[in-house]
Amino acid sequence: MKLLKACGGFLAGLLVFWVAATFMILILEEITLRDSGKLRSENELNEVLRKEKAVLGLDAIPITIAFSDESPLFAVTRTIRQCDKIYGCIYKIEIGAKRNFKNAVKHELYHIYDGHSFYNGMSWTDLIFYFFFYEPQAMLYTMFGWRL
Ligand SMILES: [Zn+2]
Repeated sequence: MKLLKACGGFLAGLLVFWVAATFMILILEEITLRDSGKLRSENELNEVLRKEKAVLGLDAIPITIAFSDESPLFAVTRTIRQCDKIYGCIYKIEIGAKRNFKNAVKHELYHIYDGHSFYNGMSWTDLIFYFFFYEPQAMLYTMFGWRL
């Protein structure tokens, strides 16, 4: 019983550590994003995309990029993946007004590079997994270039 209690305590401690670390990384990445400068034009979007695709070796992957059409209040920066049995997958990165920074492109490309898939209709458990495992990986790549 003591061992079970100790294991429970360890797991609870690990969970608290993981959640705190994720939010800490989130804050640090926000600083890195803001420091990288704003994206101001379609040309700039495509130039950053071309450069960052080359860094990750994604040149052959069809990826388009555009500013989000949605209201600046609700627009998020995200990658939409569409797959087809014949043509494979294509990706569209949408840059929302709140994360309209050069390094946001780097972050989104890491999700593509590492095969993280985000889609509408994800279950709560998938969303939690995405937020606490895939997001920190993309954030650490954005900040330090680590490919975990
Ligand atoms: Zn992300």
